[in-house]
Amino acid sequence: AVDLDTDFFRRWLALCAASVERESARLTELDSAIGDADHGSNLRRGFTAVTEALARDDPATPGAVLTLAGRRLISTVGGASGPLYGTLLRGAGKALGDAPEVTPEELALALREGVTAVARLGGARPGDKTMLDALEPAVTALGEAPGDFAAAAAAAGLGALATVPMRARKGRASYLGERSMGHQDPGATSSALLVAALAEAGG
Ligand code: ADP
Ligand code: MG
Ligand code: MG
Repeated sequence: AVDLDTDFFRRWLALCAASVERESARLTELDSAIGDADHGSNLRRGFTAVTEALARDDPATPGAVLTLAGRRLISTVGGASGPLYGTLLRGAGKALGDAPEVTPEELALALREGVTAVARLGGARPGDKTMLDALEPAVTALGEAPGDFAAAAAAAGLGALATVPMRARKGRASYLGERSMGHQDPGATSSALLVAALAEAGG
């Protein structure tokens, strides 16, 4: 198995940035159906800032990498997704403390804490057609099989697909009521990309 050291977390975030860049048009397209057509550009701006901050500040531990990335997302993304993803990464980073390397079990617990913080901030639950519909199954899978990032990515992907028939109860899409049904949630889709990037970093 791969070492979960500072370099691993830098690699994960670099892969997140690359994936967001590649899929930005699709994320914005999904957001144009049930939101305001900015999800791809929001995340692009955010992850560009993350990449710059990681190059400039050179954080020394896994926890510091995630905390810095979370702070940058919060301060650069105007939309709902910035504070939410920022809270996810900051919460996970805080949970990792200042260890130079972490175990798969510690990472699974830290990501679980991050997702709990997202739910607390946004007030959403699984089934509300949000990013939590991908994040929750991913951290549940990781809790059952720590270090199996591929299984977590598969769970997140299925979770994102499962948002299609849902009626949105949080965020902008909820203003559409029943008309939000039949569309995949943009945030659940980007969450699946971020978990897929974790699997890529691990493989
Ligand atoms: P905005 O809606 O402000 O334009 P984005 O388009 O970047 O922000 O992000 C929209 C995504 O954010 C949604 O698809 C949804 O997954 C997620 N989201 C919105 N509100 C919440 C919430 N309260 N809890 C969890 N996720 C949310
Ligand atoms: Mg939007
Ligand atoms: Mg917006």
